[in-house]
Amino acid sequence: MPLCQLHGLLFPGELSPLIQRRRALLIVSRTRLVASLFAVLTPLWIPVDLYVFPSRLAVFFAGLRIFAALAFTTLAIICRPDRPRLSPRWALAGLLAVPVIFFLISEPLLAGFDMGGQLAQVMAAGYAFLPFVMVAGLSMFPITAVEGGMLSVPLLIANLVVGFLGYRVMPFDSHLGAMWLLALLSVVATLAGMSQLHFMQQLIAQASHDVLTKAYSRRVGEELLELQFHMSRRAGSPFSLIFLDIDDFKMINDRFGHEEGDDALRQVGSALRHILRRADLLIRWGGEEFVVVMPDTGLQGAHSALQRLLEAGLGQRPDGSRMTASIGVAERITDACLTWADLVGKADRRMYAAKQAGKGCIVLTGETIAA
Ligand code: GH3
Ligand code: MG
Ligand code: MG
Repeated sequence: MPLCQLHGLLFPGELSPLIQRRRALLIVSRTRLVASLFAVLTPLWIPVDLYVFPSRLAVFFAGLRIFAALAFTTLAIICRPDRPRLSPRWALAGLLAVPVIFFLISEPLLAGFDMGGQLAQVMAAGYAFLPFVMVAGLSMFPITAVEGGMLSVPLLIANLVVGFLGYRVMPFDSHLGAMWLLALLSVVATLAGMSQLHFMQQLIAQASHDVLTKAYSRRVGEELLELQFHMSRRAGSPFSLIFLDIDDFKMINDRFGHEEGDDALRQVGSALRHILRRADLLIRWGGEEFVVVMPDTGLQGAHSALQRLLEAGLGQRPDGSRMTASIGVAERITDACLTWADLVGKADRRMYAAKQAGKGCIVLTGETIAA
């Protein structure tokens, strides 16, 4: 497993922007599903409480259940995956906060009443296991180790507080034993969440890259470009984009066959990957067209990266001659682009201008042509 993937499994900040985005959508939509389910199920238990518990206690519980159902409903409304108003971490924290508060109120309530019947005692014991159910529920979410710890600790503390205050349905020794079980369960649930996250990382890495050139596919590339462009606008930082089209590529296919064409694409992909910095993105835009996205990079930076690329060369054509490309460059601030599509459009038009100027050259902002 690459080190960056391992870091991502431990700390949420280390996940790539693409995984963060997809994971956020998944967590928010699952939170919505679970919250909706509990909004319906929580009040359905009211008749059982009324039948089993002393009537005053059952009425308290009915009130508590209605409050919990309202809180779950609010959470389900806020957690809209198409326009989420909560970050995934807050969505999960909200989902856990409702049963924690329920638990912290219900345990003293149960301790304050004489249960009488055996059935009531069994039901009351069931409430004590609420933290266990919540910890086990964490395994439904693709979470990092740090998040698993941060979400489990409040549940452990709630259970400990209830035990120390004497509101417990079992002797203190057994309560402490149960704490161990709860801690172990939280480790297992966190590991299950991490394995979900790992599976997701692998699936996204496979689906988002073009096998031939190892560049991002157009669909994922556009998603990332939009994200990076938005961040650059907010920060007011420079943002350069390179549009590259291989010259006379069709001729390679026609004269030497598709296999040789594929090999040429592989070479260009590899040459382009060598000029990238960590934050840059390489996207296969079309058949033999590539886009390089360079956040926090002005025209000067993009130009020197291209100089390095041309010095190293794009690769060799099957007849031994140098592979060349026509290249257009645009920059967000200099070109006053308001959307990422504007920026791509400008770079594309400059690439076309480079073709018109005889191919094998770069057209930068200001329509200057560099060799
Ligand atoms: P120009 O110099 O004007 O860019 O001409 P060109 O021949 O490079 O461009 P054109 O758009 O005419 O041809 C692009 C060709 O790329 C056509 C298509 O068959 C080929 N192509 C697209 N995808 C692949 C691929 O994955 N593998 C191979 N071998 N060829 C591909
Ligand atoms: Mg083309
Ligand atoms: Mg071409």
